[in-house]
Amino acid sequence: MQPTEEELKKMSPEQLLELQKQNCIFCKIIAGEIPSKKLYQDEHCVAVLDINPASEGHVLLLPKDHYQILPQMPEEVIARMFVVAKELSHAILKAFNAKGTNIFVANGAIAGQRAPHFMIHVFQRKQDDGILTIPAKPISEKDLMTLKNHLLPFVGGEKQQVLDEKKDAQQFIEDKKELDAEIQEEKEEKKEETKQVVQLKKEKKSEKKKKRKQKIEDDFDKFDKKEKEMDDEEEEIEKEEKTIALDLDKIGDLFA
Ligand SMILES: [Zn+2]
Repeated sequence: MQPTEEELKKMSPEQLLELQKQNCIFCKIIAGEIPSKKLYQDEHCVAVLDINPASEGHVLLLPKDHYQILPQMPEEVIARMFVVAKELSHAILKAFNAKGTNIFVANGAIAGQRAPHFMIHVFQRKQDDGILTIPAKPISEKDLMTLKNHLLPFVGGEKQQVLDEKKDAQQFIEDKKELDAEIQEEKEEKKEETKQVVQLKKEKKSEKKKKRKQKIEDDFDKFDKKEKEMDDEEEEIEKEEKTIALDLDKIGDLFA
């Protein structure tokens, strides 16, 4: 039973997606509820023959899960699907001895999307078959540049790369600054250390000098003392000699 317009308005995006899924012919084809001519399948995608082909062997490659348009799909699925599309293209070229294929995505109704389930069309081309002609109009270099500048902020790729490079350069400068600061700090520390060592050596040297000086002074003192002692002794002896001489005189007088 289909919901009324009023009910649809009240539905959350998740509920709407669920409803879309339930009504999706391609989800039914993938589930096997609607018969199809399956050519290939893996964990991410299924390839079937288009029942309204643009050319002989027109293949539709579908993600197994329901996604309406390319931007909704996980990159892993996109990557796998384009590899499979390449292989399908190769199979078509060989099977029909074709000279070329188109690998085509209609992203949105305005681009020719007819079902709300994403798909990649792979089909062969023949000379002047008129299936798909992309017009090519000339453009000036200036207009091309204007277009590039207009698009670039939306793309992210090249701009992002430029930004990343800038960021890398900025990071490099920051790292260099940090490194320089560390080196400077280390230098300062070394300097300080050297200063301290020199100071310590100086102190030790001066201590030694002081001790040596003290020793010399002490030695001098000792020497002086000794000299004085010797002088005193000599004086004593002289005195004694004098006393003896006097005594001798006295004795001489007695015998005179
Ligand atoms: Zn679907």
